[in-house]
Amino acid sequence: MLQYAGRVRLRACAATLGFGFLIGLAHAGAAAGATVDNVRIGAPEGGRTDAEAVTRVVVELSAPAPYETFVLQEPDRLVIDVSAGLGELGRVSAAGAVQRIRVGRREAQVTRLVFDTAGAFHLHRHFTLPPDGGRPDRIVLDLKGGLAEPRARNTPFTVIIDAGHGGKDPGALRGSLREKDLTLAAAKSLREILRKRKYRVVLTRETDVYIPLRKRVEISVLAKGDLFVSLHADAVKRPGTRGLSAYTLSDKASDRLAETLARDADAVDAVLDVANLQSYDRQVQSAMMDLTRTGARNLSAQFAESLVASLGERGIGLLRRPHRQANFAVLRGFHIPSVLIEMGFVSNAKDAKLLASPKYRRQLMTAIADYVDHYFKTRGF
Ligand SMILES: [Zn+2]
Repeated sequence: MLQYAGRVRLRACAATLGFGFLIGLAHAGAAAGATVDNVRIGAPEGGRTDAEAVTRVVVELSAPAPYETFVLQEPDRLVIDVSAGLGELGRVSAAGAVQRIRVGRREAQVTRLVFDTAGAFHLHRHFTLPPDGGRPDRIVLDLKGGLAEPRARNTPFTVIIDAGHGGKDPGALRGSLREKDLTLAAAKSLREILRKRKYRVVLTRETDVYIPLRKRVEISVLAKGDLFVSLHADAVKRPGTRGLSAYTLSDKASDRLAETLARDADAVDAVLDVANLQSYDRQVQSAMMDLTRTGARNLSAQFAESLVASLGERGIGLLRRPHRQANFAVLRGFHIPSVLIEMGFVSNAKDAKLLASPKYRRQLMTAIADYVDHYFKTRGF
């Protein structure tokens, strides 16, 4: 069963968080039609990692555009709001102090770039450069330091497994089958498999307990996850509908089924999810700051697309068009690949039987773990 962040609530989130430290940009100053087209990051020369080592960030623009910079801590990051649209950004490679780059559109004409650094840095200087020798308009930012200890090669990746529903929220029901039990059993099975493969695994819940959606986000942010997998099982009116599907975040639900489910779940969610954003600590607030994260979304979509293809090859029954996009509260606020897996439909007799079987769950979780392995190997971490 899906959990949905409605438009109204999304706005409420933004208002509650306040974004007090963000200075509004003068729209009048925005260059009409300017876009952020490319971001390049240069590592310090000679592989330096000391506090004086300079990592250079270059933002390429189609035309000059005003910008604002912010340096934020916990985690350390540089934020640049450029009064320009978001062009067709290619893949941006992290380098030097910058470990992750996040891109989002704050408003139609404000593009936010967030550079997460390995450690504390000093924004040494920033300036603009006009077009020159085939290079476009640029914003150049030099960060000093920020290169903490490199990640030890044998540091395990952290996979956050989120067992959907729990406690007062049973999720989808069919006879004695409760989604909340199936998701927890599956989560524990996946944990066991991944632990054997030397992953660090964090479950958002380990017992039959109700956890608000935002608490799940908080748990995974604080655990510094590399991948977020939310497990669910579905129920629909048509008993013939069956198969696994994977959902990733989208502004607009990508198809009618997703929309219908999302709408239905919205009412439930509004009643159940009463988490108070004010109580979140700064780290979580900052992680939830960017409500649109193109980069993470693309990664999630790629992950989901390849995951379902891989599961299909392994003989797992798939729903028609098994990768779908919808607007899930639980997938919001992440800057790591995040996917919600509907393992099957409890409203379908065959799926219900499979999902109730520990053997099938182990088979399914092994197939998911195999893809997780493949994912981390081919991402070149
Ligand atoms: Zn569910």
